[in-house]
Amino acid sequence: MNNLTLKIKNVQETKLLAKYLSEYFVNEQGVIFLDGDLGAGKTTFTQFFANYLGITDIVTSPTFNIFKRYETTTSYLNHFDLYRIRDAVYDQGFEEYWFANEISIIEWSVYLPDEFKDIAILKMYFNRIDDEAREIQIYANEDLTLYLKEKCYEFIY
Ligand code: ADP
Ligand code: MG
Repeated sequence: MNNLTLKIKNVQETKLLAKYLSEYFVNEQGVIFLDGDLGAGKTTFTQFFANYLGITDIVTSPTFNIFKRYETTTSYLNHFDLYRIRDAVYDQGFEEYWFANEISIIEWSVYLPDEFKDIAILKMYFNRIDDEAREIQIYANEDLTLYLKEKCYEFIY
């Protein structure tokens, strides 16, 4: 996977990044990992991303119910938050969604068992710089990396 660092100044820029990625995922399925400390912006990003995929529900953190599923204009978005269940993931049967032709976002992929560490086509590590600024480490395949380099040139310094 290729690595890219994005420097995001504020929540509006996070929204713009979500827009660019949603435009890519309109024609793409797969698993997206979101990692980073509490409050780094994983759920905020997911909310914007979901809205741009045509989901009008309010996307809240699934921390307390672990998993929420939404219908997009072209597919489904499955939103997981593993923070509370950690490695009890095995008992949940979530793999069925991860290997389906749908989009799955997994917050706290760091808690996945080893055998699932490579299922993502996009990995994003959110780093809180200050109240508004975030640095996002991205790992993606060549196609998606090229797309992001072109779309997100304003976030690359
Ligand atoms: P996480 O899901 O990573 O725990 P949340 O998305 O729930 O984090 O919370 C992030 C908080 O930080 C929200 O209150 C959001 O408004 C705020 N925030 C400030 N700047 C940004 C930014 N650039 N990107 C994302 N969230 C931001
Ligand atoms: Mg969250």
